[in-house]
Amino acid sequence: MNSASCPLVALIGRPNVGKSTLFNRITRSRDAIVDPTPGVTRDRHYAQASWEEQSFMLVDTGGIEDGDGFSDHIRHQAMQAIEEADIIILLLDGRQGVMPGDHELVDLLRRTDKTVFFAVNKIDSPEIEDSLLTPFWELGVDQLWALSADHSYGFGTLMNALVEKLGTTEAPPELPESTIRLAFLGRPNVGKSSMINAIMGQERMIVSEVAGTTRDSVDTLLTRDEHSYLLIDTAGIRRKGKTQDKLEKFSILKALKSLTRCDIAAVLIDAEEGITEQDTKVIGYTQEHGRALLILINKWDLIEGDKKRQEQLLAAVEEAVKFIPFAPVFKVSAKTGSGIKRLFPEMGKMHRQFYQRFPTAALNRLLEEAKAKHEPPMYQGRRLKLFYTAQISTAPPSFAVIANYPKGIHFSYQRYLTNRFREGLGLDRVPLRLLFRERSGRTKGGKEGGENE
Ligand code: GDP
Ligand code: GDP
Repeated sequence: MNSASCPLVALIGRPNVGKSTLFNRITRSRDAIVDPTPGVTRDRHYAQASWEEQSFMLVDTGGIEDGDGFSDHIRHQAMQAIEEADIIILLLDGRQGVMPGDHELVDLLRRTDKTVFFAVNKIDSPEIEDSLLTPFWELGVDQLWALSADHSYGFGTLMNALVEKLGTTEAPPELPESTIRLAFLGRPNVGKSSMINAIMGQERMIVSEVAGTTRDSVDTLLTRDEHSYLLIDTAGIRRKGKTQDKLEKFSILKALKSLTRCDIAAVLIDAEEGITEQDTKVIGYTQEHGRALLILINKWDLIEGDKKRQEQLLAAVEEAVKFIPFAPVFKVSAKTGSGIKRLFPEMGKMHRQFYQRFPTAALNRLLEEAKAKHEPPMYQGRRLKLFYTAQISTAPPSFAVIANYPKGIHFSYQRYLTNRFREGLGLDRVPLRLLFRERSGRTKGGKEGGENE
């Protein structure tokens, strides 16, 4: 599966049922990838994970989505998950037994045609499975999964069943070659629907709708000359734009879902309101997911005449993206249309870099030059050796560097090499990943028990 589109698996359940324990167990073996953007805060509730070579995005919705008050919280999680996730895991607490509210939740989840795993957690050993699991049959589901997120009982069985289902998630519709897939992210009222309308209204733009991946989602395909752009899940945004209904609620799960499907994440910032913590968080998500990032400072018309305000704003934006200096920043106005034409050539460049492939010989020359300029430091008295490199994927461009002690490569040397690759390859607009691997193919910081030495 292309790394640019991976299924989303949502964990839901009441507080204390063991969601974060399960989340950690599933994601513990990750971090194979050396993050090229240090400083981007990792959110413990959302991570790229894989099992049996199948990768997916795992989200602990309890950690990220706010409901309107406690009792509503879990219902809200469930609705979001039904809407956005490809697969849902509902965790129930085997030690507490069936709780008030579980019936309603299960009924809600049984109505979706998405795959839902009903897992009864805290069943720490086979001897107690019968007594703890049995009460949950009254919920009326066809299958229950006995699980101990903490002790791993039932874990492998559940994960195997999960990846089997992942394999059957729907294939995305065919798109014209080199279609640039764009997601628009940003807080309510920042101007997303206005921006989409402004883009669609550009000269010579041909607009057509295509079904999105979730039932109600609609993507918009734009073609202009020989270029195509897919605007991801615009249904809700555009509908809102038409009806003037301003009650859109910001949903992180929705943002994450669109990130699993886009090449370029366009994050809109409101020039009048400035950059907020939520904006910074969303920017962080785009990088955790390795997307190309385009920052659009919208409503620039409102501060057109105010030089001081402009300077302050630009400084704040620069601060927010200081770990992502490659992300282009544009001042735009969806209202007047200013700045929008310039986005197209920029997106074209970003897209080309995002999918660019490099010959192995050139990469190895670059590695040799970088080593000659600045030799890797010693690691526990031993000389670190970097043998060779090769590109392992695009979207974003990712490279493996084969080393004798991948674990010993210091962060500052990783950063040095990443920067050398960035410069040497001319990748000045997109994220880039370097993975350090042993000759055997193991990965730095990789699977449990898979470490070197
Ligand atoms: P969350 O609020 O749903 O994310 O729940 P946590 O993962 O924080 O777990 C809540 C409590 O349940 C913690 O004290 C965990 O140690 C405990 N717990 C989680 N999974 C298991 C399990 O499989 N068995 C047992 N006995 N305890 C568990
Ligand atoms: P969304 O919630 O992010 O989709 O935001 P909307 O597109 O609905 O815009 C919210 C409000 O901001 C509307 O009243 C728009 O007319 C206004 N707006 C959007 N873009 C601009 C802009 O560039 N300049 C100004 N002055 N207003 C804008």
